[in-house]
Amino acid sequence: MYKGTSASAGIGIGKAAIVEDVQLVITKETVSDTASEIARFKAALEQSIEDTRMLAADLATRVGEKEAEILNGHLMLLSDPMLTGEIENSITKDGVNSEYAIEQVCNTYADMFASMGDELMQQRATDMRDIKTRMQKVLMGVASVDIASLPAGTVLVAKDLTPSMTAGINPANVTGIVTELGGRTSHSAILARALEIPAVVAVNDFLSHVKNGDEIVLDGSDGCVYVNPEPAVKEEYGKKRDAFLQEKKDLEQYIGKPTVTKDGVHVELVANIGKPEDVDKVLQYDGEGIGLFRTEFLFMDRTAMPTEEEQFEAYKKVAVAMNGKPVIIRTLDIGGDKEIPYMGLEKDENPFLGYRAIRFCLDRKEDVYKPQLRALLRASAYGNIKIMVPLVTCIDELREAKALIEEIKKELDEAGIAYKKDIQVGIMVETAAASLIADIFAKEADFFSIGTNDLTQYTMSVDRGNDKVSYLYSPLNPAVLRSIKHIIACGREAGIMVGMCGEAASDPLMIPLLLAFGLNEFSMSASAILKSRKLITGYSTKELQAVADKAMSFATEKEVAQFMREFVGQ
Ligand code: PEP
Ligand code: MG
Repeated sequence: MYKGTSASAGIGIGKAAIVEDVQLVITKETVSDTASEIARFKAALEQSIEDTRMLAADLATRVGEKEAEILNGHLMLLSDPMLTGEIENSITKDGVNSEYAIEQVCNTYADMFASMGDELMQQRATDMRDIKTRMQKVLMGVASVDIASLPAGTVLVAKDLTPSMTAGINPANVTGIVTELGGRTSHSAILARALEIPAVVAVNDFLSHVKNGDEIVLDGSDGCVYVNPEPAVKEEYGKKRDAFLQEKKDLEQYIGKPTVTKDGVHVELVANIGKPEDVDKVLQYDGEGIGLFRTEFLFMDRTAMPTEEEQFEAYKKVAVAMNGKPVIIRTLDIGGDKEIPYMGLEKDENPFLGYRAIRFCLDRKEDVYKPQLRALLRASAYGNIKIMVPLVTCIDELREAKALIEEIKKELDEAGIAYKKDIQVGIMVETAAASLIADIFAKEADFFSIGTNDLTQYTMSVDRGNDKVSYLYSPLNPAVLRSIKHIIACGREAGIMVGMCGEAASDPLMIPLLLAFGLNEFSMSASAILKSRKLITGYSTKELQAVADKAMSFATEKEVAQFMREFVGQ
């Protein structure tokens, strides 16, 4: 058995097809007629742009606009005058062939991105190598692997899947994907999830253990991969696959149903999104609104800040698509684990405790925060937008943000620009400080949304991304549970809505407790909505009180988890 990172849920069983991208041999050649070499490069560039455009259009119609965006990112790189200018420069100055000039220039950029360490930059490095090979193949007349014509029941095995390779996949024929490289948030993983193909990535040295035609079984939910497994293993996974598909199908009956407990308590079941295109999945899975729009994603994967106008369009698009349903938009939450190179942030000694989120925004009012708030207010004329402030620790931060919003409202009034006059301004409760003074915040915030991803981190003093201490990272710790219960009680006491947008909101072990505490709104990834609706509608909040009391009586996380597992029957 091999172990990798689970990238897309589900069980894949089929025959391995190893997709090896041809290794291009790039040699340095001296050219004397640099003008005609430049013309040759330009023609190849044009062809590459055309090919990418066609792939993007095909992907947009077959899969979705969001997925096509990855290839649109490639188009941006191919059309970047700085990049192409450097290649032309190298041809002229060094008198070398196009293939070699492309190799040198693109590798310099790819290596630079790769050395930056974070996952987003790794992805940019992959993108850069992808367009490099595409241009070189055109120049050398090498055809690409034809993924589109793989036979049915294929498990695709590759070192890494470039977005342009993944784009050609036909989900009817590909039952699974295994790669040696990549991470959960790499573009190929995102595409696999969008295509709903089970996938495991980052399986170390996998290619040296598998050959074409081998029988592969993979579990995209726990990252296990088997090569030519025993019949018993295959049978077990066959059953697991059937159960997975059956569950998915069964959940469809919850589309259009209200989210109400057996004793008549209505809660809101809403979604977390990162880009306007994510709304498609929210509607598909019947989300009742947006509980968290992580706006920092609009700022990532680009070389300059999105303008007020671009942001306005993005927020408006979501508000309009959700058609009057609540849309909670969180103001920029960067810093910590989310870096944006062009913002010019210095590396903090302690990034999670440093210059990030609202702290950064209040320090960069003119160039960052005001344009975002203006865009949000303008978009609020088109739907039910609410503004959410992240990482607050003291009331002054909320007051300062609200004062700024009032100032912008006046400006908009003077300019005769429409906005939602009574727009709500709430906070993420995700720090220990905000939790401790939740009663004070509840008087001035219009709503709470509990961010358990950070609340757990800050309550337990445990880095949310550090494997060595991950045993401490659980919302079922008595300390975190007490904090959550307290926050909900303070919000309810003041009569404001209390939601949760951290991962705990869709955790089957947490849902009964959250219902018992009186949580009003559960926000999660779109694909978790129907399962959560099924769970919520099966409970009675009255009956859950005793369960919550018992859970709160334990001294350790292990005991709470054990008790909750027994209660939900896991
Ligand atoms: C959280 O902290 O729980 C949260 C929802 O925000 P993020 O994961 O973006 O920090
Ligand atoms: Mg957070």
